[in-house]
Amino acid sequence: MTSRIDNIIECEGALVLGGGIAGLFTALKLAPMPVTVLTGAKAGAAGSSAWAQGGIAAAMAPDDDWRAHAADTIAAGAGLCDPAIVEMVAKDAPARIADLLDYGAPFDRKADGNVALGLEAAHSKARIVHVKGDRAGAEISATLATRAAATPSIRLLEGYHAVELAMADGRVVGLFARTGSGAGARLVLLRASAVILATGGLGALYAVTTNPLEARGEGLGMAARAGALIADPEFVQFHPTAIAIGRDPAPLATEALRGEGATLVDERGKHFIGAVHADGELGPRDIVARAIHRRIAAGHQVFLDCRAAIGTSFAQRFPTVFASCMSAGIDPAVQPIPVAPAAHYHMGGIASDRNGRSSLAGLWVVGECAATGLHGANRLASNSLLEGLVFGARVAEDVRGLLLSGAERPRPLVAPLAALQPPPRLLREAMSCHAGLERDTKGLTQLLEIIGRIEQAGNGDAALLNITAAARLVAAAALMRQESRGSHWRSDFPQTNLCGQRSFLTLADTDTPAPTPQRRAL
Ligand SMILES: Cc1cc2nc3c(=O)[nH]c(=O)nc-3n(C[C@H](O)[C@H](O)[C@H](O)COP(=O)(O)OP(=O)(O)OC[C@H]3O[C@@H](n4cnc5c(N)ncnc54)[C@H](O)[C@@H]3O)c2cc1C
Repeated sequence: MTSRIDNIIECEGALVLGGGIAGLFTALKLAPMPVTVLTGAKAGAAGSSAWAQGGIAAAMAPDDDWRAHAADTIAAGAGLCDPAIVEMVAKDAPARIADLLDYGAPFDRKADGNVALGLEAAHSKARIVHVKGDRAGAEISATLATRAAATPSIRLLEGYHAVELAMADGRVVGLFARTGSGAGARLVLLRASAVILATGGLGALYAVTTNPLEARGEGLGMAARAGALIADPEFVQFHPTAIAIGRDPAPLATEALRGEGATLVDERGKHFIGAVHADGELGPRDIVARAIHRRIAAGHQVFLDCRAAIGTSFAQRFPTVFASCMSAGIDPAVQPIPVAPAAHYHMGGIASDRNGRSSLAGLWVVGECAATGLHGANRLASNSLLEGLVFGARVAEDVRGLLLSGAERPRPLVAPLAALQPPPRLLREAMSCHAGLERDTKGLTQLLEIIGRIEQAGNGDAALLNITAAARLVAAAALMRQESRGSHWRSDFPQTNLCGQRSFLTLADTDTPAPTPQRRAL
């Protein structure tokens, strides 16, 4: 970065980048150690966290235990989960739900006062905690944001767009961020002895996504550009039923609709999923998503028909989906809902150990931007918010053990919101086309060329380079993995190799993607 630094902000204690559930929970767990939480938009209101509809998985029912939760997670992960990490997360889950209850999260409760537990696809037991039906993300984010604002050791800095990690002697010592816009734009260096990235996923790098604009892989790109080891970037989960009404991001038609018996049909009313998987509409997410994708690619339209299964009770039982449909003039009680798969969740990310440490000294990672080994090649529903909580607590403990705590309250500082531009349309279209539900050598090679051209045209702009670095890692790792597994399908390598291995690579490895990624220790 060559631009002039307008201001230096010293951060006592730790610096967290990201105001989603992972970032805010980590900051709360660090208290009373001083921590600065930096976000592009308002803490608790931006990022994917506030949009989560389902809930958080934790084995809390009397007939459930962590082993069953771990077994379901490993089954979904298609051979690439790290069993030790899965065990740790499944064991810690109930304690993290208890933390959220302490912070005031208003989980739905049964008549006897106990937290109500719901069942979700691929979970063998009812173990999902919800808030007000489909409002888990919004309510938990708001609870954590309120709590963080009232915690004296936490300084919230909103309206900063981080663009690069600050390095000294191979160690992360802070980060550079832009604030303001136009003539008032300023470049700030924030210095801290511990930097924690909690920047979320990268769905917005795809043309069709359920993710908000902030989910564009910038934390991943920043860490990769600084030399961090990246793990499993090729694994991107696509939700089968985003509502196809031309909105960006695309609203979700929750899986619960199919759980209630809604069926997938084409424009002629032909049912086609039964031929693809024995469980039909309730088959694994990646298989249902790919079947829909292929139907659309063959020139058809696909609809979710809820008329018989849900009908007139739709508005009352699924208010969020109902509102999305009605905004496009579709009444789902009497009309099928047009649907298409959409990029939804990134299993890969910055490689992390069991304490959230990255391969770079001074840098920890937590939440969707991290790759801990929990999800393998396919995430089990409602495990992602959980991962942010479990690793948030572990990162806090690790950082606290390394840094001396201080009791002084940092000065508050509030700046105007920085304008955020979407990633280039060409990049999003190319990612959807070549690194989507079906990939092959030709398309991925073409994608890497397109990314290279976009990088060159960007004249070294750091924010653009973060985005293209994230896209490059997805494309290169997808090219390297010459097999099909979980969310990653290669039409030129449809087989699943007998011995599956996680991918570990650096940004430098994407220059000449070798067929088999080398295994490296963190
Ligand atoms: C529609 C939808 C429904 C979902 N439902 C569920 C569910 O039911 N259960 C579940 O477990 N998971 C669900 N998920 C996934 C889950 O919501 C996410 O994985 C999780 O919220 C990620 O949390 P996070 O804190 O890591 O990131 P986010 O919540 O995405 O927060 C990232 C933060 O980083 C900030 N940021 C990013 N880059 C920069 C930058 N360069 N400068 C400054 N700030 C930056 C953003 O502004 C934001 O504050 C869902 C996701 C979506 C999109």
